[in-house]
Amino acid sequence: MENSFVMAGGGETAHKRDTICIFGTGDFGRSFGMRLLKSGYPVVFGSRDPKHSILLPSGAQVFSHADALKISKIIFLAVHRENYDFLPALSDLLDEKVLVDVSNNIRMNQYPESNAQYLAQLVPKANVVKGFNTVSAWALQSGSLDASSQVFVCGDDNKSKQLVMDVARSIGLTPLDQGSLLAAQELENYPLQLFPMWRLPFIITAGLTVFFFLYCTVIDVIYPYVKEKKDSSYRLAISVPNRIFPNVSLILLSLTYLPGAIAAFIQLYRGTKYKRFPDWLNRWMLCRKQLGLVALAYAFLHVLYTLIIPTRYPVRQRWMQNIIEASKLGHVTLLLCTAHAALFGWDRFLQSRRYKWGLPQAYMLGMVIPCIVLVLKLILITPCVDRMITRIRQGWESKSKYKAAPVCINNASLI
Ligand code: NAP
Repeated sequence: MENSFVMAGGGETAHKRDTICIFGTGDFGRSFGMRLLKSGYPVVFGSRDPKHSILLPSGAQVFSHADALKISKIIFLAVHRENYDFLPALSDLLDEKVLVDVSNNIRMNQYPESNAQYLAQLVPKANVVKGFNTVSAWALQSGSLDASSQVFVCGDDNKSKQLVMDVARSIGLTPLDQGSLLAAQELENYPLQLFPMWRLPFIITAGLTVFFFLYCTVIDVIYPYVKEKKDSSYRLAISVPNRIFPNVSLILLSLTYLPGAIAAFIQLYRGTKYKRFPDWLNRWMLCRKQLGLVALAYAFLHVLYTLIIPTRYPVRQRWMQNIIEASKLGHVTLLLCTAHAALFGWDRFLQSRRYKWGLPQAYMLGMVIPCIVLVLKLILITPCVDRMITRIRQGWESKSKYKAAPVCINNASLI
């Protein structure tokens, strides 16, 4: 919708965008309108009282609902669900228009159906799309969208959904297709969840930390006590945490890259990128940034703990080098950290006295997933596999497997 070009007065080519209509001149409507205007969209507001609307961004026009929607194909409904009852009267005018529901609720699952589904029942002729509800008016206005630039979009009509996603891209946001309107309930619950993207990383980190704490306590504290009556409880303060941090950090770092590798193999197997990944993989891919950040935090703690153990100068030096590399947070870092763990234990894994009660040392457990990820990556970068995956990501499809591949966007761009 946004790619029409007109010749401006001096013969220069200007980029003309289609007019966007916003119903509601409240906080969200105004902030969103301001953002659209800055990105070059003409904006019209539909209001109950156009003559008395105040604080509207300069450059926007305001009309009655009926007049405003005649000007635009796409209408953003910045009105609370409780006030949707004026819409059925506009049903005929909304025929074939794209109606975007940005609403949220104050409680999870507040209504039996999502607001977007309710809207679709009220105005069945319109193509309802859910989206933008996770973006706050404040962030739109202040421009501080860096941390929350993802916009989740869902809807039954693919073309309408693409139009809404185009608008999101044009104002600097990253749209993520969440499927049909059935997903709207989940999107509406999303802002009510506490740090939703951090939940999975937090659970994984907590689980790994507890596991390695218990494991290292058994090996470093309980074993010496049972076998030699030696009190090694002082190790709980520094030595045990300093085993937990690097192992958890390394595993988290590899978990950051594992979903990308799995997704690549799925695409290779399917021979297309135009097919949604399983939900668990989508969720995993969406929280990779958080996993990487926690991995970095744990690596930093490991460096700190290593520095306060005065006798370990060589280790300290190695880690200073590694942390410099860690800032790149790439596969190279994963390789270096795994190599660091391997170097740490290269002379230990053959010593039978180190296998307390036959248990492998913690660093060995910590290396399992990183090694799997590195092997998968190695396979993926071999020229023939790399060529195939690049073609798939450029849109090529293996016709033998997918004769009529369903067209839908997935998280391929995030891999
Ligand atoms: P708001 O400041 O209260 O504005 C709501 C607007 O709805 C009013 O300014 C009014 O505009 C219109 N309205 C009120 N009663 C109406 C009625 N009976 N019939 C028709 N229109 C009516 O609320 P908001 O913060 O902008 O939120 C609007 C929607 O965006 C909500 O669904 C909210 O969940 C969603 N949202 C808000 C944010 C945010 O950060 N604020 C973020 C994401 C999503 P007129 O006077 O011009 O008619």
